[in-house]
Amino acid sequence: MPKMQHQFVGEFREGMPFLGGFLWIDFVNTTPVINGVVQDLIGTKPAVEQWARQANIAMDESAAIDPPSALNALREQLAEAFDCLAASEPLPDTLIATVNGLIASSGIRLYLSTGDSAIRVDERLQLVGPPVATAVAWDFARFLADFDHRRMRHCDNPACVMQFYDVGKNNRRRWCTMSLCGNRDKVAQYRERKATARSA
Ligand SMILES: [Zn+2]
Repeated sequence: MPKMQHQFVGEFREGMPFLGGFLWIDFVNTTPVINGVVQDLIGTKPAVEQWARQANIAMDESAAIDPPSALNALREQLAEAFDCLAASEPLPDTLIATVNGLIASSGIRLYLSTGDSAIRVDERLQLVGPPVATAVAWDFARFLADFDHRRMRHCDNPACVMQFYDVGKNNRRRWCTMSLCGNRDKVAQYRERKATARSA
């Protein structure tokens, strides 16, 4: 059983979808289609800052926020990676190089602290680099260490572009969210059944 088994806690935060199950998938999901129009939730610097806050990405006061153009390029690479991984196909070398470049200066540091009698040893992740791209690349690298490609899916609603990693026990999640796409399908099925019943 993969170590990453935990309850799905997908949600919207300030209207932005965080339902992918992993930070890097939520990052790929930042171009939702709303009323038929593709939105870019990280298209400007203030938007990047807002998304990063909702994504709980730690921001150093002194660190400059990522330029949207760089994030757009990373997002395109990771969107492609999602489909490669889901199909058990090898990742492009360019993506591997991008991710390696982004996480090269980051690492887990040990930190000692003294309590009442015992000494504590804690691990702390220290990300060095553009805050959003580095956090996303780190999350992606950790994901690669332990994942099941059969759990990577696009939402079943053909009009929806959301994708996710199904962390459910039965691996039967079909929708990005019940509220957005699941219920819509139920309503459509209900109408269809009613129409069929009428015409019979
Ligand atoms: Zn959906």
